[in-house]
Amino acid sequence: MPTREESAQFNRSTAYLLVLAGVFIITSAAAFYLPEYWPIWAAIAVVVVITLVVWHNRSFDYRCKYCNTTFAISVWRNLRSAHVPTETGGEKYLCCPACSINDWAQIVRKD
Ligand SMILES: [Zn+2]
Repeated sequence: MPTREESAQFNRSTAYLLVLAGVFIITSAAAFYLPEYWPIWAAIAVVVVITLVVWHNRSFDYRCKYCNTTFAISVWRNLRSAHVPTETGGEKYLCCPACSINDWAQIVRKD
């Protein structure tokens, strides 16, 4: 059973993924139905996605499940690594800087 904090973190992580998916769907549909304005939709999508990723990067760290090291990653790494929601808040596929193991790292809120 996840704790209240883990559940709140799950909700934030799920909301983050839903907003990303929503931005993708809305801007794709807008670009499809209003093709003459596609550069505007593409620019809006890029700005919103980068803003969300920067916010996520400032709000969360990652914890290795093997050595329990908590570490931060760059915005670029955050943007291009896989992210899945889990019961305890979400995981991201990363390489741990301490033990160099590539696996799913637990997403944890920054102190
Ligand atoms: Zn590690």
